[in-house]
Amino acid sequence: MRFGLTDEQKMMQDMARDFAQKEILPTLKEDEANHTFRPELVKKMADLGFFGCALPEEYGGNGCGFLESVIIAEQLAMISGSSRLPLNMQNIGPAITVNKFGTKEQKERFIPKWVSGEYFGFFAITEPNSGSDVISMGTTATDRGDHWELNGQKMWISNAHLGDYGLVYAMTDKSAKYKGMTCFIVNLKGNEGIITAPIETKLGLHCAPTGEISFSQAKIPKDSVLGEVGQGFQICMFQLNNTRISCAAGALGIGGGAIEAAIGYANERTQFGKKIGSYQMIQLPSPRWWRSMRRPSSLSTRQHGSRTRDCPTSTRPPWPSFSPQKRQCMRLPRP
Ligand SMILES: Cc1cc2nc3c(=O)[nH]c(=O)nc-3n(C[C@H](O)[C@H](O)[C@H](O)COP(=O)(O)OP(=O)(O)OC[C@H]3O[C@@H](n4cnc5c(N)ncnc54)[C@H](O)[C@@H]3O)c2cc1C
Repeated sequence: MRFGLTDEQKMMQDMARDFAQKEILPTLKEDEANHTFRPELVKKMADLGFFGCALPEEYGGNGCGFLESVIIAEQLAMISGSSRLPLNMQNIGPAITVNKFGTKEQKERFIPKWVSGEYFGFFAITEPNSGSDVISMGTTATDRGDHWELNGQKMWISNAHLGDYGLVYAMTDKSAKYKGMTCFIVNLKGNEGIITAPIETKLGLHCAPTGEISFSQAKIPKDSVLGEVGQGFQICMFQLNNTRISCAAGALGIGGGAIEAAIGYANERTQFGKKIGSYQMIQLPSPRWWRSMRRPSSLSTRQHGSRTRDCPTSTRPPWPSFSPQKRQCMRLPRP
């Protein structure tokens, strides 16, 4: 059985690709070189409904599923790896997590504003000494009776210095380990105990803002807890299971974009009087690249799809042999 997208999903795919080509591509080189983040792009993505996937309509959702958000992430990343980040920061990170674990009041208050792009979202797990091993985090939250007090430092946080409301993970009881972490919905702005700063030393993704956050006796309201006190590790794993799928879609998008660029170049560049794409050694790798891309793509898409709806699936590569049809599909000239 072959995997296929529905007409609506194909429309979403086309819309995301069209958006990336028209709104992101024209200034991409300059933006990456100057490390320019364009907040207006986040608003435009919101207006197109990119952040409403897998969320109920009453909170601004648009009836699309998780798979659609992954399709959008892949298409945006084909043009620019940086520009798929807002999906994780608005929809897949904070909004879907609050929709799963939040109270009715929290859902009503925050989700529509992440979906509409009014609030810039974020999630803060990573610290200078705590990456994959999240339970080793040093940030603490202490119950001070009428408020929570946050102390510690977060590092490599997307949107750190621009974010409004987002999720902060902290230890409320270190001795309880996996049951001693709690998730809070925190406003980074206007709190004298919170300092944020950008990180400018990344090797890539320069249009995606990344930064650090310091909490020093930061007072957080009592009703900021998401889920239960001590439920943070479970919430964190739920959130990472979703955001990591979007990261995988981003990687596939970047790979697909690279293959498209290589095919375009092979059709353009002439050596020894012929397009280099007509030489066998140039033609051989291209279908292999596509196969290696499509296998994980359809496998991961099946995983994404199974989160929200039944999908017919297949891991079969789109072109089973190195045939004339395949060459045609690859848009390569005849040898
Ligand atoms: C551009 C960018 C944006 C980011 N945005 C955010 C964000 O918004 N919020 C946030 O919280 N974090 C964010 N991060 C941090 C990111 O999630 C962490 O980098 C990630 O969790 C890995 O942590 P680490 O870099 O400390 O690597 P480490 O945990 O130190 O791992 C280093 C290497 O060791 C490997 N390794 C670790 N443990 C094991 C093991 N048990 N077995 C085998 N191999 C292992 C890892 O796979 C990796 O290859 C961002 C990072 C970047 C670069």
